[in-house]
Amino acid sequence: MKLFTFKPGGVHPKESKLTKDKAFVRLKPPKIVVIPLSQHIGAPNTSLVKVGDHVKIGQVIGSAKAFVSAPVHSSVSGEVIAIEPRPHPLGTKVPSVVIKNDFKDEWVEDIKKISSLEEVQPKDLVGIIRDKGIVGMGGATFPTAVKLSPPKGKLIDTLIANGAECEPYLTTDYRTMLEFPDKIIDGLLIEIRITGAKHAFIAVENNKEDAAELLEKRVKTRGLKNIEVVLVKTKYPQGGEKQLIKAVLGKEVPSGKLPLEVGAVVENVGTLKAIAEAVFEGKPLIERGTTVSGTAIKNPGNYIIRIGTTVEDIIDQTGGLTKKLRKLIFGGPMMGLAQSTVEVPAIKGTSGILFFGEEALDMAPQDESPCIRCSRCVDFCPMGLMPVLIDHASRRNDLKLAESLNATDCIECGVCSYVCPAKRHLTENIRKAKQKILKQRKIEAAKQAAFEKLKALREKQAKEAQEKLKKEVK
Ligand code: SF4
Ligand code: SF4
Repeated sequence: MKLFTFKPGGVHPKESKLTKDKAFVRLKPPKIVVIPLSQHIGAPNTSLVKVGDHVKIGQVIGSAKAFVSAPVHSSVSGEVIAIEPRPHPLGTKVPSVVIKNDFKDEWVEDIKKISSLEEVQPKDLVGIIRDKGIVGMGGATFPTAVKLSPPKGKLIDTLIANGAECEPYLTTDYRTMLEFPDKIIDGLLIEIRITGAKHAFIAVENNKEDAAELLEKRVKTRGLKNIEVVLVKTKYPQGGEKQLIKAVLGKEVPSGKLPLEVGAVVENVGTLKAIAEAVFEGKPLIERGTTVSGTAIKNPGNYIIRIGTTVEDIIDQTGGLTKKLRKLIFGGPMMGLAQSTVEVPAIKGTSGILFFGEEALDMAPQDESPCIRCSRCVDFCPMGLMPVLIDHASRRNDLKLAESLNATDCIECGVCSYVCPAKRHLTENIRKAKQKILKQRKIEAAKQAAFEKLKALREKQAKEAQEKLKKEVK
């Protein structure tokens, strides 16, 4: 297989894939699940249940009317014992439905399964994906149905299944490719039917060649001429959407635009498996594969975990910790989010949960020293940005300058901080500038909308007054 990669930038951190050879093990559903009402990018859901209600597995317990949203479902059967703000992996408290498991494992009755894709219209397949609460499971949590509904005039001609999994420690996608290759292929076929895409690729990093070979064998055996398995170089952040498109298609997604701009959709392999299960098994997103790893967990492995299982329960069920927990990360060590409590639950976007002891202090942000102008951050940035200059602008709160340096294109991959010999807190400062710029844009857009509304109202009033006057003159 030919080897593809993106340029410029990227790094190859120590892989630390401790759980590479550990097949998925299903954890027992816990006594209590804490299901955040919002687990996606977009409008927050509101609860459809109340305290005291009995719920079944797969029952919708939260939804929103907005286009960019994804419903949440109960992952156990039992009684709703609270609806209240609880810790969320994003670091805030979010309204959550707390359910006491009755261990009867009762499923909702109205499960519809599709046996042949030709039976269903593309728009109905999108409806199933929406109703089953599927979101990007690589960590982005963007609602998949929205991704597959391009605005008028935009066509999706290429699909890329993302099997790069470039973050150290994480092996969920790798195990998914080894253990569920046909579900990934089924997910791609569903997306081909929806979008009418002419080409589909499954991109796998070359440190997982066995997974690529297995997928290629399955594609050939099934006689699928429109799906091609390609190898991409083991490099971080090879799994970034824009980096993968550059590597596989040689196309550049323009600044500030989405992959759709170049006719492409990138989908995590776990998401494709979830899509296949939603369509062919009628299964909503109530559980997911997650890598549990790090140096402080007794039994690192790949586990299938019900959504809403807290870290506390995961520690218990996997055999406990080996040392005092000093750092808990959701996701990988490069882009993941540090957590402050073990009460936080696994959600749809939880690709990994990492546990570290004392040695984690080496990973903590270190004391900065002055910039030595070596330009390493610029050379290694996979988005071709100038991190040193954006960082400088951010520290001076010069948002105009940060914006002109395309700070909002930063994918927060952490590469600049990783390579900086002066240990400058580049990613953190760039993220701050990016958030402020995006907030400012939102305020400006709201102001503009209010101005347009007022203008329209005044024009209407003026027209009415004119007509009234005309009548009076007559
Ligand atoms: S965090 Fe942003 S600025 Fe830094 S290397 Fe990644 S994309 Fe570039
Ligand atoms: S890598 Fe660090 S020291 Fe080198 S130019 Fe960038 S900010 Fe300065």
